[in-house]
Amino acid sequence: MVKHQTDPTKKYYSGKFPKQYQNPPGLQKDMKPKPDCGEESYRGTGQLEDKKILITGGDSGIGRAAAIAYAREGADIALNYLPEEQADALEVKELIEKEGRRVFLIPGDLSNEAFNQQMVKEAHDKLGGLDVLALVAGMQQSVEDITGLTTEQLRRTFSVNVFSLFWTVKAALPYLEKGASIITTTSVQGYNPSENLLDYASTKFAINGFTRGLAKQLGPKGIRVNSIAPGPIWTALQISGGQPQEKIPEFGQGVPLQRAGQPAELAAMYVYLASDKSSYVTAQVYGITGGIELA
Ligand code: NAD
Ligand code: MG
Repeated sequence: MVKHQTDPTKKYYSGKFPKQYQNPPGLQKDMKPKPDCGEESYRGTGQLEDKKILITGGDSGIGRAAAIAYAREGADIALNYLPEEQADALEVKELIEKEGRRVFLIPGDLSNEAFNQQMVKEAHDKLGGLDVLALVAGMQQSVEDITGLTTEQLRRTFSVNVFSLFWTVKAALPYLEKGASIITTTSVQGYNPSENLLDYASTKFAINGFTRGLAKQLGPKGIRVNSIAPGPIWTALQISGGQPQEKIPEFGQGVPLQRAGQPAELAAMYVYLASDKSSYVTAQVYGITGGIELA
């Protein structure tokens, strides 16, 4: 094969994944194989020099890939995650500090409204401003039948995936200046819901609506709002109840590119939407799906 080109079907792990269950939210450091968040590969080119960025779900998976990329592009970071994910978050902290960038850890539960407000204030105060919200945190628990879906899970999924976006954005607006960018994280599930992910898929449909409506509201204020829709990406979310264990070995193999994606493959899009290069882009959803259509 020519050197300047990579076969996308073979660029990352394309074999079967071993079954492995962890209680949610799961720790990436105990996964086999470990997700690739660009720890060794992401190279920055100064695209986000001195931007101040709050990332939710930044300890692992897609949020970690965004955090590493943002730091290597020159940004300072406030990083939110759940307290039980401290071990993963500390790895990210070390990677960011290695870049000579500042990072502030803000652990806490996004299903709690007051915490969202505290988090935003703390991020703003410690960073000395706020330019970008990269809202990546989310929860997903597979339930085969609607009769087995508890009200507790239903409320929690909506609180973490949807309500926290409202709470965070409301708290952040007084701080955001013209040129700010808000990035939400939806899913292919927000277009084509699986039968076992009713609550989760419904939240992703809601995120699509939130993103587009908010973009119209904030456009005249010079604030852009976009979303990224991942396909099957190898992360802790999937092995901690996001999928039934019997679906883990072949996870992702049904897409046209025939393998699961890695978080590192989403980083460039989180960077683009945060950067001033996307100055004419708002109210959009970008799919990074291995070939699943967003329709
Ligand atoms: P991940 O488990 O590595 O990251 C999700 C993060 O969400 C966790 O690390 C955790 O910090 C955070 N989180 C969950 N509940 C929280 C709570 N109550 N309070 C605070 N933080 C909480 O998995 P990921 O796949 O990287 O997930 C990131 C985003 O990508 C999620 O929004 C998910 O829905 C979305 N997504 C993932 C896939 C996939 O296949 N992995 C596909 C489509 C969309
Ligand atoms: Mg995590």
